[in-house]
Amino acid sequence: MEKKIKIAIYPGSFDPITNGHVDIINRASNLFDRLIITVASNNTKKALLSIDRRVDILNKTFSNKANIEIDYFNGLLVDYAIRKNVFTIVRGLRTLSDFEYEFRMAIINRNLDKRIETIFLMTDEKYSHISSSSIKEIYNLNGNINQFVPKTVSKTLCNLKNEKNNK
Ligand code: ADP
Repeated sequence: MEKKIKIAIYPGSFDPITNGHVDIINRASNLFDRLIITVASNNTKKALLSIDRRVDILNKTFSNKANIEIDYFNGLLVDYAIRKNVFTIVRGLRTLSDFEYEFRMAIINRNLDKRIETIFLMTDEKYSHISSSSIKEIYNLNGNINQFVPKTVSKTLCNLKNEKNNK
């Protein structure tokens, strides 16, 4: 009998991707044969980076990982999962407030399509305090974000600042 390939989707805003996300991605890519990281493009949160830039950063950060695919989607995650024919969703958990939000989303998604299973990976304690929104705040206040994000993010945000200053 042919072995079934285990594939999962890791959706998120990744605006920008942080070392906390990278840790979840590395761990999930060891658990699954293939991992699709997909950027949610219709999030209501005020965006720092365009979808193209976020996708580009993800491609560069994981270019050495053969079992990771980068993508983006509009609309409902459930519809994306159906299009991809992949029904396992990976999400990360940090705090109790993450749990409440994630719990609700997991149930809603399963109500929308009962094939959906959401798998949660607990943050490594080293990254439990890191969020994209705190990175944005530090960046907007001209702080140094290097210790919290992959190098490509630091470079992209540095270029973005230069572009803005040169306008
Ligand atoms: P969303 O807007 O969909 O919540 P995010 O990019 O903020 O997208 O987060 C994507 C997923 O990664 C979420 O499940 C979130 O809880 C998780 N995550 C974010 N930061 C961390 C971290 N530091 N450690 C572990 N998981 C995290």
